Amino acid sequence: MKKIQMVDLKTQYEKISGEIDTAIKEVILSSAFINGPQVKAFAADLENYLGVKHVIPCANGTDALQIAMMALGLKPGDEVITADFTYVATAETIALLGLTPILVDVNPETFCIDAEAVAKVISPKTKAIVPVHLFGQCADMDPIMALATKHNLFILEDTAQALGADYISVNGKKSKAGTIGHVGCTSFFPSKNLGCFGDGGAMYTNDDELAKKIRMIANHGQSVQYVHDSIGVNSRLDSIQAAILKVKLQYLNEYASARQAAAAFYDKAFANHPALQIPARAKNSTHVFHQYTIKLKGVDRTKLREHLQSKGIPAMIYYPIPLHLQKAYLNPRYKAGSFPVTEKLCSSVLSLPIHTEMDTDMLEYISKSVLEFINQ
Ligand SMILES: *Cc1c(COP(=O)(O)O)cnc(C)c1O
Repeated sequence: MKKIQMVDLKTQYEKISGEIDTAIKEVILSSAFINGPQVKAFAADLENYLGVKHVIPCANGTDALQIAMMALGLKPGDEVITADFTYVATAETIALLGLTPILVDVNPETFCIDAEAVAKVISPKTKAIVPVHLFGQCADMDPIMALATKHNLFILEDTAQALGADYISVNGKKSKAGTIGHVGCTSFFPSKNLGCFGDGGAMYTNDDELAKKIRMIANHGQSVQYVHDSIGVNSRLDSIQAAILKVKLQYLNEYASARQAAAAFYDKAFANHPALQIPARAKNSTHVFHQYTIKLKGVDRTKLREHLQSKGIPAMIYYPIPLHLQKAYLNPRYKAGSFPVTEKLCSSVLSLPIHTEMDTDMLEYISKSVLEFINQ
């Protein structure tokens, strides 16, 4: 059996190395490393895939969040509501812009932002909500969009972990994650579901005006060369990365199916076990399994992790510390106990290896190893 990894990017590459190498070589031979034709071509393919009017590539997912918030015209002191249980970038960009992150708890089943909790913290200062489509499935967008309409708020979807997931609205409309709110932000970090060979990110929107602002801010706030209408940043997707992503986008649905098949195997192996809970499926979203995250009940997580480690199986804790208890984000508003669901998740979740290259032997070995520890 192959060495077990959280993600296996090497095997994934080997299967399409011919196409990837050709695409990279083409960029090198053209020397158009910045804003080469591959960037536009990839953006067009992704627009098509997502069914969205504008995809604006940038340097990474964190930049995408920052640029999107700048483009929405959010000002210091504005409150932005987001989930306490997420990767730090979501809250970091809010804080970095002088906006006030207002954290809320998540749904104990889906791990995504709890719309009822959002409703409770909306104030006259609230300007935006950032739902995070965590681990590969969409947050419950219908009630969040209803809140946005009612209170005139912007919705910025952090879809770094759920590129390709479908949200099925109550009215039956199917939309790709990140295309429901005003702007979606994603990352092409190598281990994400659509990963490049370095850093990359993108923003998506159906709003022409907003797209224009986003493009301008990502390019030093300039609309015409050397004319700067606003303070911007320098955030670009390299041509080489775009060329790689253009190839890999063709396989994204296949990759999602491989992840779903691995998840289904784990689900079956762990079904109805009293000591762990398999990932719940949101009722209105498909799941692209960026992570396969189980909730342990009365199991010593550290010891289980050590047991798995001793058998050559990595397992990760996403995320070990809630944002409101992180030193950088301490705030008198919050204390230990403020967000009981997130706090419980941080102490009980474990993410098992899941990627596009898993085979039955591997899945059998991993699930058997988990079960032999928790059944002992
Ligand atoms: C990965 C990730 C980001 C940031 O993406 P980078 O490309 O690493 O900057 C933001 N939000 C979430 C939820 C992520 O998982």
